[in-house]
Amino acid sequence: MLELIERAKEILETRVKRKIHREIRSKAYSHHTVTYPERNNTSPLKQEDIFYKSSETKDLALYLHIPFCNGKCTYCQYVTFANQSDERVNTYISALKKEINLVCEIPEIKNFRITTAYIGGGTPTYLSPANLEKLLIHVREKLNFHNNIEFTVEASPETIIGETGEKRLDTLRKYGVNRLSIGVQTFDDKILSFIRRRHDSKQAIESIKRAKEKFNNINIDLIVGLPDQTLEIWQFDLDTALKTKVPSITTYPLKIKSEAPVVYKLFKKNPQRFPDEKTFLLMYIMSMERFNELGYEQYPVWWFTKSLEYVYKQQIHKWENNGELIALGIAGYSYINKWQYYNVKTLKEYLESLNQNRLPISEGVKLSKPEEQARRNLVLGIRCKIDKNKFKERYGFKPEEKFGKILSRLESLDLIINSEKEIKLGYTGNLFAEEVSRSFLLKHPSNKNTNLKKNNHGYA
Ligand code: SF4
Repeated sequence: MLELIERAKEILETRVKRKIHREIRSKAYSHHTVTYPERNNTSPLKQEDIFYKSSETKDLALYLHIPFCNGKCTYCQYVTFANQSDERVNTYISALKKEINLVCEIPEIKNFRITTAYIGGGTPTYLSPANLEKLLIHVREKLNFHNNIEFTVEASPETIIGETGEKRLDTLRKYGVNRLSIGVQTFDDKILSFIRRRHDSKQAIESIKRAKEKFNNINIDLIVGLPDQTLEIWQFDLDTALKTKVPSITTYPLKIKSEAPVVYKLFKKNPQRFPDEKTFLLMYIMSMERFNELGYEQYPVWWFTKSLEYVYKQQIHKWENNGELIALGIAGYSYINKWQYYNVKTLKEYLESLNQNRLPISEGVKLSKPEEQARRNLVLGIRCKIDKNKFKERYGFKPEEKFGKILSRLESLDLIINSEKEIKLGYTGNLFAEEVSRSFLLKHPSNKNTNLKKNNHGYA
């Protein structure tokens, strides 16, 4: 067991240069750019601002949000409600179906072809098999799905075991879901209980077994940076995940944000309960080394797949291709016709809006200039790769023409590899993916070459 940990320590000392720690620091827990621009500087808007009568056929990604779970994890920062009554869930599903109908009435949407769909949350598999079926029938009837669609549903282990769990899995399969993403998070029972998951490691393994009987393309999520997680526990998580032989394993960094108040308060009060920056980096190095030696692909940065066949296509569409996305349901964000726009955040507003036959869009921002669209592509796409020819076709200039200074700095720090054809993260860049990504933000301090502040949790 120690061999991998020792190797990671050596790599950290020899390959991850100290100068990187001086100039660019991993803000391990605090900053994660989910999308760009972030939800500020937006203004109210209506659907007429976004859509126009285009007859162009475009590829679109679909996201549906199911904001219900059977409890609340301590680190949860999503818009989700625990243990809601059947009536409330039914009302939401009816509203979501109505939103789908309204969207389908938009002439432009009729020309869109959905190439990837994702039902996330919350816990979509919290829905009863009957509600899942209702929703899936509606989605398949109304929306224009490509024959070769990647159709993912997120699941929590306890919801896909036992008799009802099996019914859910059968329902998903029956309506064309072909990728399952299971939120395992860790195989350590003490941590699972502490972060208030509603399953233990045995149930997680059982759920993977059951899922494998019905699905070929399965992803499991693990979290790096959980409270009380040690290098030994992380190694156990990696090895147990690998033993399940699923084709895709994601290793997300824990996000500590005020939106997740329980873990946020714990971190403020008791930071020593969380892996410090050095441990965090060692965990990443351990993942990269272990997956690498087993021939897994690392693409995008936190996803490890047995082969490119299992790469998570919706993420590539959104990040690498700067592709269009429509998110339906409470609190989702969409990107269409250069508009980044958001749905309302509360259930009350969501239901009211749909009762009045209005799309529940609250606010947004248009990236009118090619430079801003290109910046979005770099912020998100650098975690995959940036194809320079495609970049020039999309925005009319090469990345170096407008972002040359930032690229040179990142290259000089060995964080990116900038070749003739593409730009991608290097070995060290994978460890600092968020910082690399944030370097392209308009007002990021590193653009002025100032160091990020060291917190008392840092690695010196
Ligand atoms: S399962 Fe996911 S969405 Fe639900 S409470 Fe936990 S972290 Fe939040």
